[in-house]
Amino acid sequence: MAAIQALRGTKDILPEEVGYWQTVEDTARQIFGRAMYSEIRPPIFEQTELFARGIGEATDVVGKEMYSFSDRGDRSITLRPEFTAGVARAYIERKLFAQGGLQRLWYGGPAFRYERPQAGRQRQFHQIGIESFGSSDARADVEVIALATDLLQTLGLKSLSLYINSVGQNADRQQYRAALVEYLTPYQNELDPDSQDRLTRNPMRILDSKDERTQEIVADAPSILEYLGTESKAHFDRVQQLLTDLGIAYRLNPRLVRGLDYYTHTAFEIQSDDLGAQATVCGGGRYDGLVEQLGGPSTPAVGWALGMERLIILLQQLQPISASVPDFYLVSKGERAENRAMFLARELRAAGLKVELDLSGSAFGKQFKRADRSGASICLVLGESEVENATVKLKWMATQQEEAIAQTELLSRTDELRQQMLR
Ligand code: ATP
Ligand code: MG
Repeated sequence: MAAIQALRGTKDILPEEVGYWQTVEDTARQIFGRAMYSEIRPPIFEQTELFARGIGEATDVVGKEMYSFSDRGDRSITLRPEFTAGVARAYIERKLFAQGGLQRLWYGGPAFRYERPQAGRQRQFHQIGIESFGSSDARADVEVIALATDLLQTLGLKSLSLYINSVGQNADRQQYRAALVEYLTPYQNELDPDSQDRLTRNPMRILDSKDERTQEIVADAPSILEYLGTESKAHFDRVQQLLTDLGIAYRLNPRLVRGLDYYTHTAFEIQSDDLGAQATVCGGGRYDGLVEQLGGPSTPAVGWALGMERLIILLQQLQPISASVPDFYLVSKGERAENRAMFLARELRAAGLKVELDLSGSAFGKQFKRADRSGASICLVLGESEVENATVKLKWMATQQEEAIAQTELLSRTDELRQQMLR
């Protein structure tokens, strides 16, 4: 029978690479926790309408990337293509706003988009992100941006670029949009087909078209920064001032836009030159209109999402994170010794040590070879005579030095042995 293969655009995260994932997750949990962000775990699927309203019909995500299906009760359901809509839905439905003050939240997990798979682009991929609800202050924008840069820096990633922009408020954008359409209309026939379509539906999205000719045209388009009103400009100035004060380097990119009405003020991206075409590791911004758009009370909010696969590609270029290595490799031969070995393994694990138990039943020589390959510092040996004397043999793998001690002593010496292994 033919073996079944994984779906296109999905990947198994194998034991040899899971260390990278755990490192990122642990670091994120620590950094977000210190800033008093709490984890939220929304469901993996939601009503399709949530994403249609929360991400916007005119976006690629909703227009052509969603995994939507009818369930057995004929409801239209969609696997989340991102988290923000679900988190905002939970914020409204579970009345997190009623707790007053800020709601600082973070999340992590799989998301799904029907895209053409390539390096750094999958159909099931993973995001980590944060959302800060309840403050319109520029400090909230900078807090979330700083958490992204802190996370990346703590992980050892240095050559990343932060790009920021402001998309202002609705009134600013209406004027800008008009100016943009006026500029682009003479080039209408030279734009890529998607952009031609957007000229009437969502002209600001044309600015991030990946088409070469469109990019050339757009290079000389008017900049949104010239259309910001006093309030928007003050907000953006403060964001920049704070970033500068914190020593967070950034560059302005006036083409960095989000075309939907509920996006306001700050937009930002963190990019790497080491990722090829999929350069954006992290993207986010302020979305003061989203909660209201989804039927909640008017609530300012700012957040970002980071692509785990792209981050891990960068980490792998940087440093190997090796698989877990046992403290003890436990070999035994003969039924009584094997039984005793199982017992000892559990006791040592309960004392906090990592113990790999050889189950092969093969000759000691073969078991020693596996002990060597495991990377353990110490091989513990149990044979008939050790069982007889209630002892165990310690074999230091580096020096091949051996020492027989009482099994009871082994447990009382775990702290000392751990120290020696560290050396
Ligand atoms: P892109 O322009 O690369 O398609 P996007 O604008 O669609 O990105 P966002 O919706 O802002 O991406 O998602 C935030 C982050 O999630 C991205 O910066 C990226 O790192 C990651 N991401 C998005 N889509 C995918 C995917 N299909 N596979 C892997 N990572 C992804
Ligand atoms: Mg995309």
